[in-house]
Amino acid sequence: MLELTGINAAYGDVHVLYDLSLRVGEGEIVAFLGANGAGKTTTLWTISGLLKPLSGRVVFDGRDLLRLPGHRLPDLGIAHVPQGRGVFQTLNVLENLMVGAYSHRAKADRKQTLEMVFGLFPRLYERQKQEARTLSGGEQQMLAIGRALMLKPRLLMLDEPSLGLAPVVVETVFQKIVEIGQTGVAILLVEQNLAQALSVAHRGYVLETGRITLQGTTAELQGNQYVKEAYLGL
Ligand code: ATP
Repeated sequence: MLELTGINAAYGDVHVLYDLSLRVGEGEIVAFLGANGAGKTTTLWTISGLLKPLSGRVVFDGRDLLRLPGHRLPDLGIAHVPQGRGVFQTLNVLENLMVGAYSHRAKADRKQTLEMVFGLFPRLYERQKQEARTLSGGEQQMLAIGRALMLKPRLLMLDEPSLGLAPVVVETVFQKIVEIGQTGVAILLVEQNLAQALSVAHRGYVLETGRITLQGTTAELQGNQYVKEAYLGL
C-alpha cells in the first residue's frame, strides 16, 4: 500500500534521514519508533508532501506521491494527524469533525462517517457543542483522530498520539487505535513510547538518528535484546 524507498532528507545543510525504506501493508498497524529528534516527524512530512526529499521514492497504491501536490493526499485516502493534534480551537467538536470531511471521496458519506466516529468515540458525541479549546488533552487527541477518520482514510498516520497524556488516557487512545485497525484502516503509528506502540502494532521499525536500525514483527522487536535494554528498560 505505502512504500518508501531510499529516502534521504535534509533541512538546508542538516541531513536528517538516511536511505530510509519502510512499508505499510493493507490493514496493517505499523509502529515507527525512535527517540526524540530521530526523524520520525520528518518522515511523515515527507510522505505528506510537506518536505521534498533529496532522493528516494514514496509510492502509495502504485502512485508516486512525490509527483503529486500534498493537498491531493486526502483524495487518495491518506490522513495525517500531526503532533500536537492541530484541532481548530474555537470551533466546536461537531464543526471540527465536519471540516474533516473535506475531500471529494468523504463529503458524500459524511453523515454515516460521523455516526461511525461517534460510535467509536462516545465522548465526542456527548460533547458535540463544546469548543475544542475547552476539551481535555485526551479528548482533543480523540477529536484529532476523529477528524482524520472523517476523511474515510485507507491509511492513517498518527504522530505521537500519546504525547502529553496521562497513562490511563494513553490506554484509551491505544485501545481506539486497535479498534480503528480492526475496521481495515492501515495505521502508521509514530511513537517514542515503544512498549505501548508495540502492544498494538503488527510490525515495527526503529529509527535512530535518521537511520532504520531495526525492523521486524512485534514479537521480534519485543524479544530483541538491544530493544529491551535501550528502549524497554529491561
Ligand atoms: P520528536 O519525537 O521529538 O518529535 P522526531 O523523531 O519526530 O522527534 P524530527 O522532528 O523529524 O524528529 O526531527 C529530526 C531532526 O531534524 C532533529 O534534529 C530536528 O532538530 C531537525 N529538524 C526538524 N525540523 C526542522 C526544521 N524545520 N529545520 C531544521 N531542522 C529541523
